[in-house]
Amino acid sequence: MNEKDFEKMNQKHLKKEPESKTKTKPLAGTDLEDCLKKALYRKEFQIYYQPIIDVASERIAGMEALLRWNRPDAGMVYPDDFIPTAEETELIVPIGEWVLHTACLQAQIWRNAGYGPLKLAVNISPVQLQHKNFIPTVEKVLKETEFDPNCLELEITESVVFRNLDFVADTLRRLKKVGIIISMDDFGTGYSSLENINRLTVDSLKIDQTFIRNLETNPSSKEIISATMIMANNLNLEVTAEGVEIHSQLNFLKQHKCHYFQGYLYSPPIPAEKFQEILKAEKQQKTV
Ligand code: C2E
Ligand code: MG
Ligand code: MG
Repeated sequence: MNEKDFEKMNQKHLKKEPESKTKTKPLAGTDLEDCLKKALYRKEFQIYYQPIIDVASERIAGMEALLRWNRPDAGMVYPDDFIPTAEETELIVPIGEWVLHTACLQAQIWRNAGYGPLKLAVNISPVQLQHKNFIPTVEKVLKETEFDPNCLELEITESVVFRNLDFVADTLRRLKKVGIIISMDDFGTGYSSLENINRLTVDSLKIDQTFIRNLETNPSSKEIISATMIMANNLNLEVTAEGVEIHSQLNFLKQHKCHYFQGYLYSPPIPAEKFQEILKAEKQQKTV
């Protein structure tokens, strides 16, 4: 698909505008905790999916599950406004299990419908990862949804490396044994060292969107991305660039043989029904 086709498909099937993150009345402290507790059984959470695009072919290779909270009377609440409280209160454990189960179920539905195999990326909080039931929970979800572990990518953040590194490394090794892919999210913003990437047996890196955003204005962003690509190739790691909004950024990634990208250039995160529409459109395009 050339740039024109790519643009045409986008215009035809997608509303490319970023999600409008209008501020709702913020909740805090125990109010937020109480509402979060009720949100799960009141079914107020929803998963949006953002396409992960293969840079070389410009086709959908998978999707990242991103949590949204549809608060009645208050509108959409975004993860940055409630995940920290969910982590502090450990409510992220049941919420995270719901995300994993719902996203694997949906991805399996798409697979059964002939779209795929697509890779499903799910964000995992350090609190979940260090919980004693994390591995049994993942195994239970895979069994119940029949989703292929080789298509499941768990995204961890660099903050995880601070606490309990041995325990986390052991957990990740056990998850990898069943075929699950491990990726380091927001790469470049935390305190990751090559030693940690090696010890945590990470399979892929997600370059943080700040580097992509600053590509035009800050020459060191270019250097960081090209150095990351060289390192990743030597270590056999796959690389996804986050927050790609304009063609010049994608062209730079192409030149440096980055493997995948995500961003508003292709699509913002969208509800499952809309995601299915673009899968359908892409499949039809493949057959003509
Ligand atoms: P993340 O995993 O790094 O996700 C990428 C964020 O960048 C998402 O924000 C996405 O909507 C946004 N994004 C994607 N493309 C673009 C773009 O082109 N430009 C710009 N400006 N932004 C873009 P979102 O959905 O608000 O999520 C924020 C963070 O919340 C995520 O960052 C992740 O760390 C966390 N999160 C989201 N869902 C979950 C979840 O189910 N569990 C956990 N533990 N954390 C989650
Ligand atoms: Mg992520
Ligand atoms: Mg990220």
